[in-house]
Amino acid sequence: MSARILDGVAIGEKVKSQVREAVAAMKPRVPKLVAVLVGDNPGARAYAKSQAKACEEVGIAYELRELAEGITEADLVREITTLNTDPEVTAILLTMPVPPHLDGRAAQRLIDPLKDADGVHPVNLGGVVQGRRQLAPCTALAVMEILESAEIPLKGAEVVMVGHSEIVGKPTALLLLEQLATVTVCHIGTVDLAAHTRRAEILIVAVGKAGLITADMVRPGAVVIDVGINRVPDPETGKSRIVGDVDFGPVSEIASAITPVPGGVGAVTTAMLLRNVAEAANLQETLRRI
Ligand code: NAD
Repeated sequence: MSARILDGVAIGEKVKSQVREAVAAMKPRVPKLVAVLVGDNPGARAYAKSQAKACEEVGIAYELRELAEGITEADLVREITTLNTDPEVTAILLTMPVPPHLDGRAAQRLIDPLKDADGVHPVNLGGVVQGRRQLAPCTALAVMEILESAEIPLKGAEVVMVGHSEIVGKPTALLLLEQLATVTVCHIGTVDLAAHTRRAEILIVAVGKAGLITADMVRPGAVVIDVGINRVPDPETGKSRIVGDVDFGPVSEIASAITPVPGGVGAVTTAMLLRNVAEAANLQETLRRI
């Protein structure tokens, strides 16, 4: 069997066009996303560039606020508080990781939950737990969007989530539970990973280890969602290339559907960030009207 490729770029484009329409309907208001970047990090700056482009595509204003590497905790707090109270700012994201002298998690908790573009504030994660979500972590939303757009039935499905981070594994597992999937979460402490993954009708992997999931660990006909992003050397070109956590070639021979890396979950994650910003604008407008 050769798996259906779940095209994240196409799904991301569809989400973007929905966001573009939602944003156009807000006129003359223009939602604005401010990305806070502490220190000089070329990778993060490249990521910011792609965020800026994506925002422009859908009519969201974007500002990258670059703060000095040595900024104090107090100044970072002040910066976030100012953004929280600025009526021109719809959504805020703090680029992670921050330099080691700062507590990134604590700083994220200071972001107004209604402006939380990444959907990682405890209030928003609490909403995910309660099944009353407003803003939610973008990558978890991306996984759900891919499964929905591929029309994969979730109720009663045997799902294995590999990875239990706060931004991917845990919220994805909770969103799947909400849809009445039977969810097993595996992680670094799991004793026999393959015994679990082989049972999965839907296998989602978010670890950050190239080649972790080999074909013998996958149930024939499974749907495989690869969240991992790993930079590995390409023996043919001598340069580096991006791969996921799943051994794509052999696994796509036995899976029924699979996301590629790149061009899978990552492309949808950016679109979900835009959707969160539009959602934040709507939530704030609703509050203003009350
Ligand atoms: P993390 O480091 O916070 O979590 C890694 C998880 O993997 C942990 O739960 C850990 O217990 C588990 N793990 C580690 N080794 C394992 C093993 N041998 N067996 C089973 N579980 C193991 O990472 P994260 O932030 O959740 O990101 C995971 C991967 O997803 C990374 O490659 C990251 O770059 C990628 N990512 C992609 C997107 C996207 O949009 N595509 C977004 C976020 C993260």
